Amino acid sequence: MVTQSPLWNTPIQFAKGVGPRRARLLEKLGIENVEDAFWFVPWRYDNRLEVLPIGNLLPGMKATIKGLVERCRINTTSRRRLVVVTITVRDKTGVIECVFFNQPYLEKTFVGGLALLLTGTVVLNPRGSPRLVMKGPEYEILDSEDSEGQAEGRIVPIYHETHGLSSKQLRRIIQSLFEHYAHQLQEILPAKLEKPLGFPTLPEALPVLHCPDQNQSIALLNQQATPEHQRLAFEELLLLQLALAMKRHRQMEATPGIAFSVQNAWFERLKKVLPFSLTPAQERVIHEIFQDMSRSTCMNRLLQGDVGCGKTVVALHAMVMACGSGYQAALMAPTEVLSEQHYWSLKPLFKALNISCVLLKGGQAGRERAEILAEIHSGNVHVVVGTHALLQPDVQFAKLGLVIVDEQHKFGVLQRATLREKAPWQPDVLVMTATPIPRTLAMTWYGDLDVSVINEFPPGKKTVQTKLFEAKNRKQAHQVLQKELESGRQAYVVYPLVEPSEKVDLQAAIEAMDLLREQFASFRVGLLHGRLPSREKQSVMAQFQQKEIDLLVATTVVEVGLDVHNATVMLIEHAERFGLAQLHQLRGRVGRGQHQGHCLLIHSLGRIPPYMQQMPLTVETSRGVPQRLGSVSPPAEFSQATARRRLAVFAHTDDGFALAEEDLKIRGPGQVLGVKQWGEIAFHVADLGRDVSLLTKARQVARDLLHRDPDLCFPEHQELKETLLRKWGEKLALGSIG
Ligand code: ADP
Ligand code: MG
Repeated sequence: MVTQSPLWNTPIQFAKGVGPRRARLLEKLGIENVEDAFWFVPWRYDNRLEVLPIGNLLPGMKATIKGLVERCRINTTSRRRLVVVTITVRDKTGVIECVFFNQPYLEKTFVGGLALLLTGTVVLNPRGSPRLVMKGPEYEILDSEDSEGQAEGRIVPIYHETHGLSSKQLRRIIQSLFEHYAHQLQEILPAKLEKPLGFPTLPEALPVLHCPDQNQSIALLNQQATPEHQRLAFEELLLLQLALAMKRHRQMEATPGIAFSVQNAWFERLKKVLPFSLTPAQERVIHEIFQDMSRSTCMNRLLQGDVGCGKTVVALHAMVMACGSGYQAALMAPTEVLSEQHYWSLKPLFKALNISCVLLKGGQAGRERAEILAEIHSGNVHVVVGTHALLQPDVQFAKLGLVIVDEQHKFGVLQRATLREKAPWQPDVLVMTATPIPRTLAMTWYGDLDVSVINEFPPGKKTVQTKLFEAKNRKQAHQVLQKELESGRQAYVVYPLVEPSEKVDLQAAIEAMDLLREQFASFRVGLLHGRLPSREKQSVMAQFQQKEIDLLVATTVVEVGLDVHNATVMLIEHAERFGLAQLHQLRGRVGRGQHQGHCLLIHSLGRIPPYMQQMPLTVETSRGVPQRLGSVSPPAEFSQATARRRLAVFAHTDDGFALAEEDLKIRGPGQVLGVKQWGEIAFHVADLGRDVSLLTKARQVARDLLHRDPDLCFPEHQELKETLLRKWGEKLALGSIG
């Protein structure tokens, strides 16, 4: 027998019915080879076990019917110019109309007498005489020669489609792959594991998912909760946990870290120059960080703390520790505005300790930049603050000992790795985030990090009053704004800036500013957005900080880190377009001083009654997003009901963690972490919002396994190891193992 190439190395073009055009479409769905196709599991299943007589249909039912086309007509709606094909379908018990939108070619397909199987939801025709209608049902032509007739009387898997490739076509392709390649499917999990976990094997599981028989529970299938789904999800989670654990293990072994020493005199001095004393939580995490730093292994720590809990001063302590031991430190922030704010607020403190500090920006002129780079390279400069400009290859440090990444969720994991590579030894790494990362995500994406949490606020912090306003009641929100401005406070008005329509949004923000200028003519109004040259941004920021501007109209650049104590109003337009974590960040910008903060959310979702927050998530939203994360962009919209619920929840709670969990449930991990990291975690089946216990199990199994066989050398681990390297080797730079 000829040796067969493995499924992951068998191009999808080998499948029956797949030519170059289809191959390109499949690639869009992330399917490049036979293995990909097998892992492309249906996102839902239709129950076509039961074909109902048309005469038994009632409005609201989701049903499958079988009948003959009696009539077919095509017309265009006058208002929205939709092309509508309407067919009348009859069986022995009655007739029903089925309508199809914007598929004019169907007029030719649905010839009189054609036998069809149709699945859809039955509604009562809203206009004219009361008739039953199915809108856009899935149809199958029964008397054609292909095998689709089989779809009758069974559970039919439905796949995510892409333009030009329907679920039905995908089904056919995948079915034919099963006929040719199913015998090559192999189990990679060691038998020792498989048994106690009680999952079916991979060769057992996949056919059930793609070709379920009538005995399967359709409810479990649709919740992706069958043992077969779990088997697949478990493998995905296990591989990632193994990869992260191995990476971490080897990092610690390969390159020694620096053992910093605590210079008490420095901290005595720091204490004197700080305008406040540390909270117990700050003391505790500083202690955790110092312990890490004084060990000769590398620190790899995530510092989590809600907006305003005081992470910057913790970072300051870590940097002083590094400099006190003769090393340099780098502080990287996601935006220029934020890095400048860090720079200006830290500079005087560093100065008091004789630590020299520079700001490195994207737009610095050649001479200026060259000088700064030379200073960094010579070691004259101890602390460098900047944006991702710090990652450019010409930035060479003399003795980089500590890297701090602020607002980590804005950066990809890979960027974090790059900064670390800037030193011949392993600098310690501290990443800070205000996005409270739900436990599952922390365990997954930050599987290689230790976590410290600041769980209390500096004294005197008040909760911000949050109120929702329908767009038509904007005046009421403006009254609050007016009142605050009149009593000498400052305010933000924020507009969303969503990438695809950035220009339009920017235009909207600029126009809005003109309107606000008229309306609040007695106050000084400024505009801040990402497209402004950085010098101008800085000057607007400085003006706001020095109260030369009362009202700052901004796109989301104020999202991270700005610290203006006199600002008490955060008015957010189009609030429904923001993620909850983002809204929470924005809300954290106000009420930082002694005055009460107000967060005013303007939305166009209609009335949102307060009980809305208790509304259960609908099936449509809780099933999450297509898990093919790398290739399919996340759904940007959710139903109105879900959107209302989100805002209601937001207005009700001030707890960043609760909000992050909510976001995770509704929007999936990509949205919670930020788009950059979306593509980096690619799961087909596993769902971090749902599979918490599976993830915990996978983490445990990964640890046990590596404990016994750190380099996966045992014969029974070979398949596992190969798969692991193939999936994560390059992404996590694992190189070769063992
Ligand atoms: P974040 O965690 O959001 O980065 P910051 O570090 O910007 O928060 O701190 C928020 C505000 O709280 C700043 O104005 C900071 O000076 C102040 N602050 C930090 N720690 C304390 C403390 N222990 N006591 C009083 N104020 C503090
Ligand atoms: Mg901060």
